[in-house]
Parts: sequence; structure tokens; C-alpha cells
Amino acid sequence: MDRRSFDADIVVVGGGPAGSAAAISCAQRGLKVILCEREKGDRDRPGETLHPGAEPILAQLGVAGHLAGVTGARHEGIWIEKSGKRHFEAFGGGAGDRWMGLQVWRADFDALLLGRAAELGVDIRRGCAPRDVLRAGPSICGLRMADGDISARMVVDATGSARWLGRILEIDMPPRSPRLIAFYGYVEGACPERDLAPLLVADAAGWTWTARVKPGLYQWTRMRFGETASAIVPPEELSRLAPVGRMKGADVTWRMASQISGPGWFIVGDAAAVLDPASSHGVLKALMSGILAGQLIEASLSGKAPPAELSASYHRWLARWFETDILQLGRFYRELGATEFA
Ligand SMILES: Cc1cc2nc3c(=O)[nH]c(=O)nc-3n(C[C@H](O)[C@H](O)[C@H](O)COP(=O)(O)OP(=O)(O)OC[C@H]3O[C@@H](n4cnc5c(N)ncnc54)[C@H](O)[C@@H]3O)c2cc1C
Repeated sequence: MDRRSFDADIVVVGGGPAGSAAAISCAQRGLKVILCEREKGDRDRPGETLHPGAEPILAQLGVAGHLAGVTGARHEGIWIEKSGKRHFEAFGGGAGDRWMGLQVWRADFDALLLGRAAELGVDIRRGCAPRDVLRAGPSICGLRMADGDISARMVVDATGSARWLGRILEIDMPPRSPRLIAFYGYVEGACPERDLAPLLVADAAGWTWTARVKPGLYQWTRMRFGETASAIVPPEELSRLAPVGRMKGADVTWRMASQISGPGWFIVGDAAAVLDPASSHGVLKALMSGILAGQLIEASLSGKAPPAELSASYHRWLARWFETDILQLGRFYRELGATEFA
């Protein structure tokens, strides 16, 4: 089929960091992109602490100049307390040029990335979730929507934990850890001890994370092995502050999809691989997988390399990162004495 007979070169499903990065990366390479996001308006979700390493990636996406507008706090490192012993781990950097982590409010951060995509000509469709995929033989060639079809040369699934395409294609995503549920909540008020840097407190039963997201607002996440929601309470240092909304839980069992690209499709971000938040770089991985998918899609559509080779190299790249992460996380939990990881 001729390029002009498609509605778009790429259609991205999901407008979180992975979907926006994929859309921007494709648009920066001159491709015509449609992005479908299920939510009508901005919605907040966890994933607010960004390692300083995210900054050059965000510069590549063209949003570095606007980060101050979505950053609620910055920190030079993290307090870590393991089995009762507390120390400060700085990110490093030279004198006068210290690396600083970022606390972003996700609704604003996601909106910034979507805004950048729109600036590059991406057609952003909100309140829009596909019903099915369009197929041409073994290939996927677009989306079936409630109000008609969208044909495209490539479909990108960036739907996070919804794993929209993975479920349709029945792609296996086997667990690589015991079942892990992270509970999280927000409180408002003042907690001066948490204003300079986040704190991770960990022991054999799990861990608790507390961080200032923006002035007067703090986030906590708790992962306690085997504990149910009813046993989870906010951490002591935030217990006197006023809760904002209800506590929520998310399944963060380590998983990577057995196939993350194929004829006419790519899967990026959490839809491709998930780790528990102790890995601390879910957003970074979402951004980087989106950018890389954009590069590979352009190479594939312009015939620079055989699609199967590009697909295999994408799988190798993500699998290597994922396997390294689970080795490190497993060591972290074993050192704490967590019997679940013995
Ligand atoms: C409690 C908790 C704390 C975390 N803390 C951190 C942290 O501090 N730092 C960090 O880097 N990471 C953190 N993470 C991980 C981080 O949240 C994720 O890795 C990151 O959000 C993944 O981005 P994504 O774009 O792949 O998916 P998401 O951010 O989940 O975006 C998916 C998008 O797809 C849309 N969507 C879903 N289904 C459909 C559909 N059918 N059609 C159209 N659109 C659809 C959704 O509305 C959403 O906008 C945390 C995770 C949890 C659970």
C-alpha cells in the first residue's frame, strides 16, 4: 500500500511518558502520527520522582526548557534507611554543578509531553480508546474505533498496565517475582524533614518511600510483602498530615512481555516491562523505550534495515536492561533478608 493511502504513518495508543516519547520521536523524524488517549482530561498517576539522568532525555524530546514549570521540588540525593541504619546517597556531580533529581506532578508532566507532541504536528485524540486492531495478513495496520477505522503503517501500544495490544495478541507476560502490590497515597501539610530529599526505609518485610512532590504535598508508597490493603497505613512521619484522596494499590510484579514488537507493531513503556518502584526509573525507561521505538520505526518504514532485525535489536535492548534490573533488585531484597527472594 502506498504511504498516502494510510490515515497516518504511526498510531500510538496511550498518552503517558512512553506514548508521548514515541509520538515525539516519530514526529521529529518527519512521520505523520496520531495519538489516542483514553482519558478526556489530565489525570494524575504515581511516578513523580525522576532521576537526574532523565534531564538529557527530556532535552532530546525538546521539553528541557519547560521542566521548571512542572517541577515541584528538586533534591541532591536520597536518604536510605536499611534495617535501621540511615545514610544519604547523593546523585553526585562536580562542585557548583550538583546533579539534582526532579519531583514532577504527573498530570502536568504528561501534559507537557503531549503539548510538545502536538507542537510537532501529532494529532492528539483524547477520550479515544480503540476497540480492536486492523489486520492485513500477519501484520497490524491500524485501529478499529467506535467511530470508524484509523489505518496506519505501524501501531504503538503505550497503554501501561492496561497492556491493550499485548492482551489482544495474547502475548505472555510471565511474573519474574512474587506477587508485589505497591500501595500509595498523598497527604498535605508540612513535613520539614522531607523537604530536602526523599526517604526510602527498607527491611526484610518490604519498604516505604516518602517524598515531597510539591510545596505542602507529600507522596508515600509502601510495599510490604504479603500484606493486604487493610494492614497498610501511611508512614509515621506523614501520619499527622491530612490525606488527599484515597490510598490506592498497583500490581508491580516484575514482568516483561515475551514479544515486544512484530509486523506493524511495537510495545513501549510499562506495557512492555514492569518493575516495582524500588527500581526508581519506570518513567525513564518509558521515555527511552518510546524514543528508541521511534528511531526503529523510522528505520523500518524507510527500508534502512530489515524489520525483523530491528525488532530483534529492540527486544535485546529492553531484555538486557530488564534482566540487569531484576538482578539488582533481587540482590537488594536478599541483602535485606526478604525470604520471598531467597
Ligand atoms: C506506586 C508507584 C510509584 C511509582 N513511582 C515511580 C517513581 O517515583 N519514579 C519513576 O520513574 N517511576 C515510578 N513508577 C513507575 C511509573 O509510574 C511507570 O513506569 C510509568 O508511568 C510508565 O509510563 P507509561 O507511559 O508506560 O504508562 P502510563 O504512565 O501508565 O501511561 C499509560 C497511558 O495509556 C492510557 N491508556 C490505557 N489504556 C488505554 C486504551 N485502551 N486506549 C487509550 N489509552 C489508554 C492511560 O490513560 C495512560 O495515559 C511508580 C509506579 C507505581 C505503581
